[in-house]
Amino acid sequence: MISAATLSDLSVLELAEPRPRGFVRRDVAPARPAPEPAPGPSPLLQIRGVTLEYRTPQRVVRATHRIDLDIHAADRFVLLGPSGCGKSTLLKAAAGFITPVEGSITLAGAPVRAPGPDRIVVFQEFDQLPPWKTVAQNVAFPLRAAKALGRREAQERARHYIDKVGLTPFADSYPHQLSGGMKQRVAIARALAMQPRVLMMDEPFAALDALTRRRMQEELLALWDEARFTLLFVTHSIEEALVVGNRVALLSPHPGRVRAEFNSHAFDLSSIGSEAFQAAVQRLHARLFDTDAPAEAAR
Ligand code: ADP
Ligand code: MG
Repeated sequence: MISAATLSDLSVLELAEPRPRGFVRRDVAPARPAPEPAPGPSPLLQIRGVTLEYRTPQRVVRATHRIDLDIHAADRFVLLGPSGCGKSTLLKAAAGFITPVEGSITLAGAPVRAPGPDRIVVFQEFDQLPPWKTVAQNVAFPLRAAKALGRREAQERARHYIDKVGLTPFADSYPHQLSGGMKQRVAIARALAMQPRVLMMDEPFAALDALTRRRMQEELLALWDEARFTLLFVTHSIEEALVVGNRVALLSPHPGRVRAEFNSHAFDLSSIGSEAFQAAVQRLHARLFDTDAPAEAAR
């Protein structure tokens, strides 16, 4: 085991090229020369040389260019990058909605070819929940649809996860009776209830007010502490990336490439405001926007 690579090590960890294959992050001390790749647990989700494009009759839009990423079980892996750099596209590819034009995506060694109940995505939009279903029905429905569980088991599991996100008093409410934060809690409960191998979240808190957003981050981390699920989380907020992630991939602007990768588990919500945290935010801001300007806005 190595000492944690904090953002003070960021300059050392910055990779002009994606990290080499065989790089085993937990065995590499950032301040030392790279040792021989040690055998370690193989990544749960492996993204290799993935280029993603949108083809319209008029033109081809390249969203990402040759992305290499290793996401290990129980990682809270964050994709951080400016708007339009291909974060959502990459997430959709990992979820199986988009096929790479180049490269491969594998989950536990098996190629990802289509969406499946082992990869659930929570989106930013508050309208992900069918409005005619109650909270309890919304959470139980996919369990039934995926034929994962019988009616009673589905209801029980739904109740369990609704309780986890603190919505038991609202189990029989409809989405329009809930605040934005509560709707996102339902979406998270619904996703966790499926017990996916990877939970994917695409800027899930971006449309919430700052206080609610902070509380949701806290709750997500508490849920992770309890269940240790594997999280692939997209954000354009540096602060959010540092708080939520244990590992962050910084993507360059359009088309997205991996510009740097680093460990961020040294930070959590209590770090915000500390000197080390602010310094990390500033350094990342400069890295993200290729300037030396101080970070006047971290979100
Ligand atoms: P991000 O999530 O990082 O903001 P996206 O993955 O949404 O970025 O988009 C990456 C690039 O792909 C952008 O240039 C965007 O305009 C383009 N793009 C996204 N969706 C489509 C689409 N359906 N058709 C054509 N281009 C698209
Ligand atoms: Mg997006």
